Amino acid sequence: MYPAAFEYHAPTSVKDALKLLAKLKDDAKLLAGGHSLVPMMKLRLAQPGHLIDLRKVKGLSGIKEEKAALVIGAMTTHWAIESSKAAKAKLPVLAEVAGIIGDPAVRNKGTLGGSVAHADPAADWPAAMLALGAEMVCEGPKGKRTVKADDWFVGLMTTAAKGNEILTAIRVPVWPAGSGAAYMKFPHPASRFAVVGVCAAVTLDKQGVCTRAGVAVTGAGTRAVRARGVEAALTGKKLDAAAIEAAAQKAADGVDVQADLQGSVEYKAHLCRVFARRAISEAVKRAGG
Ligand SMILES: Cc1cc2nc3c(=O)[nH]c(=O)nc-3n(C[C@H](O)[C@H](O)[C@H](O)COP(=O)(O)OP(=O)(O)OC[C@H]3O[C@@H](n4cnc5c(N)ncnc54)[C@H](O)[C@@H]3O)c2cc1C
Repeated sequence: MYPAAFEYHAPTSVKDALKLLAKLKDDAKLLAGGHSLVPMMKLRLAQPGHLIDLRKVKGLSGIKEEKAALVIGAMTTHWAIESSKAAKAKLPVLAEVAGIIGDPAVRNKGTLGGSVAHADPAADWPAAMLALGAEMVCEGPKGKRTVKADDWFVGLMTTAAKGNEILTAIRVPVWPAGSGAAYMKFPHPASRFAVVGVCAAVTLDKQGVCTRAGVAVTGAGTRAVRARGVEAALTGKKLDAAAIEAAAQKAADGVDVQADLQGSVEYKAHLCRVFARRAISEAVKRAGG
């Protein structure tokens, strides 16, 4: 399949890209790695009259280390995160998530910003962004604003970004000493998208009691969500196998689990619980528990 005809634009600054967005409005789409948008265009599920390619826009790629966060440019590829020394040292779960996305071709082209802007219900990054408490930095005609991951993923392939905004960066807080995080998924055998994926992060105090937990589920419903019941069940407890199992049992609570070609509601809810147990157990181990 060929996409419908479109006009191609390659601005070199955020300012110029925003000007184009303001002029072309809904008839334009931003292009990042193209690994979600181009297939949709080929299937004619998207038929933008204009593509605004962000690849030549300066300042949108790379990982900056702040005192308590990594700030990742929206155009940073999955591979750049998978191989980043900063990510491996400060938030190794980011390299872990990136490393199990699709295949090398997808990881070399696809971007973190494209993934969180696309908000595919089976994408891996949304679970990690929610569990870790990331913030999305957007730029629009009125300047910059920051949106918490909790407020970002609003529905099926829908985010809090406005049509006249560009997602420029993602700020991921670095968790304190005594923390660990893990991402586990049941991958679709062909695409590697998450049939169900769970990201878990915990902080343990010196007695091994969980003082903070972030857990999020992707793949099961129409959007990735925080598993708040699991987080509440973990917090304040010593995380032995029984406590982890009890908390993981709540992993599908509050998820609008959808039956699809990959499985029934019951099966996918079961996967939520299984992968929550695995991700939490690994996060606790990595936190030193
Ligand atoms: C074969 C295959 C396997 C895959 N497997 C997986 C997998 O296992 N796990 C997974 O999570 N993903 C998977 N993906 C998706 C892949 O990760 C994509 O790279 C990602 O979803 C979209 O990123 P992109 O940079 O390609 O964005 P694009 O396709 O270029 O854009 C996607 C959408 O986001 C918008 N957009 C892009 N950048 C911005 C921005 N800066 N600001 C605002 N809007 C923006 C675009 O307008 C478009 O609507 C797979 C894709 C393919 C083709």
